Amino acid sequence: MSIQNNLQMIKQQIEDACQHSGRNADEVSIIAVTKYVSVDTAQEAVSAGVTHLGENRDDGFLHKYEQIDGNVAWHFIGTLQSRKVKSIIDKVDYIHSLDRMSLAKEIQKRAEKKIKCFVQVNVSGEDSKHGINPDQLPDFIRKLSDYDSIEVVGLMTMAPFIEDEERLRSYFREMRRLQMEVQAMKLSHAPCQELSMGMSNDYAIAVEEGATFVRIGTSLVGKEF
Ligand SMILES: *Cc1c(COP(=O)(O)O)cnc(C)c1O
Repeated sequence: MSIQNNLQMIKQQIEDACQHSGRNADEVSIIAVTKYVSVDTAQEAVSAGVTHLGENRDDGFLHKYEQIDGNVAWHFIGTLQSRKVKSIIDKVDYIHSLDRMSLAKEIQKRAEKKIKCFVQVNVSGEDSKHGINPDQLPDFIRKLSDYDSIEVVGLMTMAPFIEDEERLRSYFREMRRLQMEVQAMKLSHAPCQELSMGMSNDYAIAVEEGATFVRIGTSLVGKEF
């Protein structure tokens, strides 16, 4: 299967999921996650029409950023160590992994413009997952008003790698509830209009439950390493 075909199939699935849930497919953007593939393959995704690229490590991010041609928005989706902020901050369009105050402080220190951030939420409660606990989320977001370089555009989560669709759905639904809770706070630094959730194995469910960005690696661009 070519990337072009994969993209067509994924778009169709997203359209179907939107139809099931009474949403408009225009509300959903596809981020091609290129961490497992070469620059050439990532470039092929861009040629196929992908306009958002995501990487989860600073070195991979910088390598792709320097090599890829085209008008793309760059997403940093992985755990971000504070000492790596400096190298990526003037190149990213979105950071999906804001999960602690010390990172917010470092972003504030290094940013030369407002940075669109997703607050990462550990909605499944797994110890292995990064992210803010749901019950601490409102307080965390309120405190981010101290950092005027941070705009909380949304919430992000990584669901556990499980088959149980109903459990996955319950996590995504909880994310949507948390998003509405943040929106109801009406904070100017946290419009929280986006939900970054859904990967290769669960994006259709995530879209049915309100995802506006899906992060898709393997089923879109494959896995080369
Ligand atoms: C790797 C990764 C993805 C994409 O995973 P696939 O299962 O290959 O689609 C999405 N989000 C994050 C944070 C990742 O690290």
